[in-house]
This record gives sequence, structure tokens and C-alpha cells, in this order.
Amino acid sequence: MSTKIQAVRGMNDILPDEAQWWQAYEATVEAWLARYGYRNIRMPLVEHTQLFRRAIGEVTDIVEKEMYSWRDELNGEDLTLRPEATASLVRAAIEHNLLYDGPKRLWYSGPMYRHERPQKGRYRQFHQYGAEALGFPGPDVDAELIVMCAALWRELGLTDVRLEINTIGAPEERARYRADLIRHLEAHQDALDADAKRRLHSNPLRVLDSKNAAVQAVVASAPSLMDYLGEASLAHFDGLRALLDAAGQAYVINPKLVRGLDYYNLTVFEWISDRLGAQGTVCGGGRYDGLFAQIGGKPAPATGFAMGSERLIALMHDAGRAPRARLPDAYLVAQGEGSYAYGFRVAEALREAGFAIVQHAGEGSFKSQMKKADASGAWTALIVGDDEMRADEISFKPLRREAPQVRMARARIAETFAAALARLRD
Ligand code: ATP
Ligand code: MG
Repeated sequence: MSTKIQAVRGMNDILPDEAQWWQAYEATVEAWLARYGYRNIRMPLVEHTQLFRRAIGEVTDIVEKEMYSWRDELNGEDLTLRPEATASLVRAAIEHNLLYDGPKRLWYSGPMYRHERPQKGRYRQFHQYGAEALGFPGPDVDAELIVMCAALWRELGLTDVRLEINTIGAPEERARYRADLIRHLEAHQDALDADAKRRLHSNPLRVLDSKNAAVQAVVASAPSLMDYLGEASLAHFDGLRALLDAAGQAYVINPKLVRGLDYYNLTVFEWISDRLGAQGTVCGGGRYDGLFAQIGGKPAPATGFAMGSERLIALMHDAGRAPRARLPDAYLVAQGEGSYAYGFRVAEALREAGFAIVQHAGEGSFKSQMKKADASGAWTALIVGDDEMRADEISFKPLRREAPQVRMARARIAETFAAALARLRD
């Protein structure tokens, strides 16, 4: 026997029982996005590596160590499996001039790939839904994105997901802050870990969200970015806060919240749950007004968020709202010469009328077929044997209620079956 081949570490199969939760989640999310006027867009899973280097930034976890990149020797191209989709979406918006007739609200979903250490809530293939509002400069649409998330948590039955917000200002403001922050960090070099030391000069803002306690102590006494913001940045933040207050949306301002990606400006936010252990952030987002220009497009303001499906579905499990599976309306058992083909015509007529019918496949005694029918969870069994075929009928046997077995004519089977099923379910 040859050796067993297993799934790649950090990339999971989603088996049918679990997929049921995913389908419930996806249906809820997609209906919710439509209610806010967001339209679907689909980008390839593979992009030029340069796109992510430029959009996300060289000195970020993703670009430094998490990307699945390779050289396609056939075309001499450097390619990457997308680690996130905002860069692809903006690339697509520029390439197809999507903003030619005004701003757009868009959503995407699908798998993302990051070479991280797999653990609970952190995988190498994971899934996101994201919403992006392109072409809107004001805090109103930032507030819209945040408030709509809150509506989704309610709809998914998630009660304790809390909101943290911050503003990281404009690039010039950050540059001035950066210089002072570097001075502060340099003065406390000895307390910094290797990561923080490395980032000190390349991306010092990332030191702010270090998880190392000693580094956090240095950060606690660092200057605050808020003190470097000009009037316009402060007005944007005040505007956002006023709208959140008006909507009754609670939040905490976390001045250390800078997000992992370079492309943000002004508003940044995260939704966090304490029920997921270390991997508690279920959704992160913010404004990225510089990204269009950074990847070669005409400047355009933009704002959005991405949320992690694995973490949100874990919270749905935690909340215990099990999605109801659709059980078959009937399991069709057939015995005798020509009974399979006869049964198949019956099953097709019923499926066309919208019923879920599982037809027994393969051999099997009547008794073993009926056992399968029972195990399938189906409401009823439909039975085709020599007798039934001779009379051009089907036997209908309720499986979940005490009720007699009856014969039904094959003509108008959909109507007869519908009526009988409705009586059973009453
Ligand atoms: P983290 O700090 O947890 O690494 P991040 O800042 O890298 O998160 P984003 O790039 O903002 O995450 O992605 C948005 C959301 O996608 C996260 O809040 C999380 O819910 C989810 N996510 C990110 N990386 C993973 C992963 N490796 N596995 C599962 N979900 C993930
Ligand atoms: Mg990460």
C-alpha cells in the first residue's frame, strides 16, 4: 500500500456537518451585504507579488514572512497566492476604471493564504468576507461600515463582540510622530525584543501593537499619535465618533491600535471577542485613502473591513445557534426489474417541483434500503416495486409520524406528494 496523503498543514477540510454552519453563515452575510447596497466582485486567487509588496508594505508580517510566493518559470513572473483581498480589489477597480461614474460599495469573499504558525483560529488557508466603500471621503461611510458590522453580530446571535477604534491620521502627521517615536524607542533599546528592534527604524508604529510585555511597558510611556494630528484628521475622527454615538454604538478608543497593514490612514477599527482566546479579532478595517495612488491608480478615498469566517463561525458554535439542515423529503427505495429507472423518473418529477429526494443507489434488499431511508433523516419513503409499477403508482410511507402507508398515482405525483407531506408536517 502506498503512503496516505494528508491535507496540507493549516489548510482544513470543512466536512458536511460543519459546512452546514458555513452555509448558514454565508447566507446571512450575503443577504446582509445586499441590504446595505454592497455588490459582489470576484478577483483571482493569484496576483503579481509586487501588488502585495507595494500595497501591504515591505515591513509587515504578511510581506516579510507570510506570503506563498513563487516564480512562474514559464512566464518569468513572480506570483503570490493572495494573503488578503483589498489590494486585489483596488487593483481591479483601477484596471477596470470602476469609479468612472462615481463611488462604489463592493464586497468579496473567499480563501486567503498566509504562512503562519497554525493554531486555534489561525490557519494557513482561511476565509474572509470583506466590504469596501470606494470613492467616499467622509467619516459617514466609516460609520456605516462599523454600524453594519454591529447589525451582523446581532443577526448571527453574537452578543459580546466589542469595538475598538483609533485614528492614525495623515501620512505627514505619522511621519512627524514616527521620528519622535523612534527617538523614544531608541532611548529604551534594552527593553525591546528582537522583533521590535528590527522594526524600530523600518516600521516603528508596528512596535505599538507588540504583544511582548517588556515592549508594551516601553510603549506605554511613548508619545501618543493623537497629539500629532492636525485639524482635518481630528475633524474626521470627531465626525466618526459623533455618528457612532448617534447610532448608539459603544466603542473604546485604543490609541495603540495601528493595524498590521501599511495602507491605512485616519480611521482604523477592530471587532474583538474574548471567547476565542488569543485569536480574538474577528474583523478589522479602516480607511486607506492612499492605496489607489500607491498601486498606480488615480487617487481615490477608500474604506473597508475584512472579517474572518473561521473565527465568526466559531463564535456561532459558541452561541449555540445550530443551523437547521435540510433533510430529504423522501428517500426512494426501488426493487424489481426496471424499478430504478421508474423511480428515477418519479424522483426527477418531485425534484423539479422543489422537493429534496434521495434515491437509493446500488443493490440492497428491501429491508436494508428501508434502513438507509430511516438513517437518512428523510420524512418519508417512496417505494417502487413490481406491484407499484404495474399499477403506475408509488407507495408513500411516512417515517417520522404514525400514519398509514398509501398508494399514489404517478400522474400528478408532485401535487399528491405535496399535499400528503403538508398533512404530515401539520
Ligand atoms: P492577526 O493580528 O490575528 O494576525 P491580522 O491583522 O493579520 O490579524 P487582518 O489582515 O486584518 O488580520 O484580517 C482580518 C481578519 O481575518 C482578522 O481579524 C481575522 O479574523 C481573520 N484572519 C487573519 N488571519 C487569519 C488566519 N491566519 N487564520 C484565520 N483567520 C485569520
Ligand atoms: Mg496576521
